[in-house]
Amino acid sequence: MPRLSLDELTAEWQHQLDNCPDHIRQLTAQLAVQHKTELAAHFYAVMLQHPEAALFLSHEEVKSRLSSSMENWVCNLYSTRDTTDIQSVIAHQNKIGEVHARVSIPVHLVLRGARLLKRRLIEILRTALPPQQAAMASSFAMTLIDLAMEIMSHAYSASHDRHSRAEESYRLFAVTQNIASEKEKQRAALLDWENQLMFDHAMSLTADQLPRLRASEFGLWFRHKGAHGFEGALETGLILDAMAQIDDVLLPLFALREPGADPQKNLQLLRDLREQTKSIAYHLDLLFEQNNELESGRDVLTRLLNRKFLSVVLNKQINYARDTNNSFAVLSIDLDHFKQINDTHGHEAGDLVLQQFASMLLNKSRAGDYLFRMGGEEFLMIMVDVNANSARRAAEKIRALTAAEVFRLPQETTIHVTASLGLALFTGHPDYQQLLRRADSALYEAKHSGRDQVVVARD
Ligand code: GH3
Ligand code: MG
Ligand code: MG
Repeated sequence: MPRLSLDELTAEWQHQLDNCPDHIRQLTAQLAVQHKTELAAHFYAVMLQHPEAALFLSHEEVKSRLSSSMENWVCNLYSTRDTTDIQSVIAHQNKIGEVHARVSIPVHLVLRGARLLKRRLIEILRTALPPQQAAMASSFAMTLIDLAMEIMSHAYSASHDRHSRAEESYRLFAVTQNIASEKEKQRAALLDWENQLMFDHAMSLTADQLPRLRASEFGLWFRHKGAHGFEGALETGLILDAMAQIDDVLLPLFALREPGADPQKNLQLLRDLREQTKSIAYHLDLLFEQNNELESGRDVLTRLLNRKFLSVVLNKQINYARDTNNSFAVLSIDLDHFKQINDTHGHEAGDLVLQQFASMLLNKSRAGDYLFRMGGEEFLMIMVDVNANSARRAAEKIRALTAAEVFRLPQETTIHVTASLGLALFTGHPDYQQLLRRADSALYEAKHSGRDQVVVARD
């Protein structure tokens, strides 16, 4: 989707300003400032009655922060005079659109909010101004809100698309964990079916007795798992087509035992069959290869999840927690004085420590938890189904295990390492960035209070 450039948007905004007489603009701006608190309060009062909107707005922090940013939003909208003002207002709309996308607020709720504000603003203008001025001011006020919504929606959809792509690759990633062994297994299964077919054919079984690819081990796997895991890829469709061609068109044509069958025709059929099978094997290889690239979604050194999946996993957890009344926690982990390990023992020794630490985390966490390498010697764990107490105990356990672990370096050297940990429990806030920020400041506090400890973030 082509996006309007900043220059085009600025020009459009400027055009709207030029179209409105100065004194009308000033009156609108004044009235917006004068009534900002009332407008924001009205917005909240009405939106909170909407159960779906309440999910996003009812958190205390959202309420207190958003009220004042809503007031500022209204004021800034009508106070633009020059290009710098306009561009900063446009940048602000873009940011709002991105936050809406990150939190997955349905667009209809945003539009509903805009409609509420517009209606109230028109009432205010009508009460305060004589009819002709009120009409001009209303038209100006509505146009700027519409323009702002347009910019917001643009940013929303661009950001939403990025998010869907990350989600898609995560889904693929998740279904294909044991990809290397699956590839060999399925290739062999396809060959098994082909061999069986050739054997049965040589034994002169009738066409309807020949083994169908769909019902073979390979066919079952591909139809139920492969096609799902590789959904959306071109090759998936090609394999399903080839499978249908073999089972529904080619196999029924084998009629060797029927009197008067043409042996030449049979030979050609066998060749066609061979071709179709080869093309399936070829496309299957391509599918698996593409997935190997996806594997780079995993951190190469530690095999933990790459941070690019973090937003997907956190959004899933937030939705799950909301639907099931379950909670989860985020644990930010940073190894202490790691630079010294590199300096003393070399970078490769540092790498070994990171690997050993990652596998310890994997071994000691529960199957439902998620482990990310955020970069360098920073890790992040998402603990599912926990409460304040169990999360704190689990974090403390990780701290203690780390301190007790004997890290093995080459030449029989062993060292000890400690970690600082920041723990943040999900509070119901819809934006996962808030959760990450809290975990990070707790980690920061742990570092500054002497390291080798867990700090729990405040709500
Ligand atoms: P602090 O206790 O405050 O966290 O101190 P620190 O030394 O652990 O933190 P700092 O951020 O100063 O240094 C991190 C070091 O981690 C610096 C960098 O060389 C090292 N590092 C980052 N990524 C890797 C990696 O992949 N392998 C190795 N061996 N070292 C890495
Ligand atoms: Mg560190
Ligand atoms: Mg660090």
